[in-house]
Amino acid sequence: MKFNMPSNNRRVFMLHTLVGASVVATAHQAHASSETDAVKETDAYPKSMGFRLNTANVDKVKYPRHTLEQRCSECQLYSSKAGDPTGNCSFFKRVVPVDGWCRNFKQRKATS
Ligand code: SF4
Repeated sequence: MKFNMPSNNRRVFMLHTLVGASVVATAHQAHASSETDAVKETDAYPKSMGFRLNTANVDKVKYPRHTLEQRCSECQLYSSKAGDPTGNCSFFKRVVPVDGWCRNFKQRKATS
């Protein structure tokens, strides 16, 4: 089958094809980055920092000064929108859960 499109229609067709491919690529990239941005306990560097997805699972022998009140949401290096179960950690520069913890925890200063 042969398409006999006038030159302008061919350009429009090509433009739509390129835009469509670009939208699909961008959507795929966004999905991929949301999966890879989360800090994992098994990643080498977070593991070396004692990172846990839940502060209740921190090794109490290895980190005797850790308390259950220490969690990412109480850390100076954590930021998130209200009600969001995850936020950004400026130390790892990745996403962490509100209940996470690592040995770089810095108590957030009380606001008055
Ligand atoms: S630096 Fe703070 S916010 Fe980042 S993982 Fe450690 S405790 Fe959580």
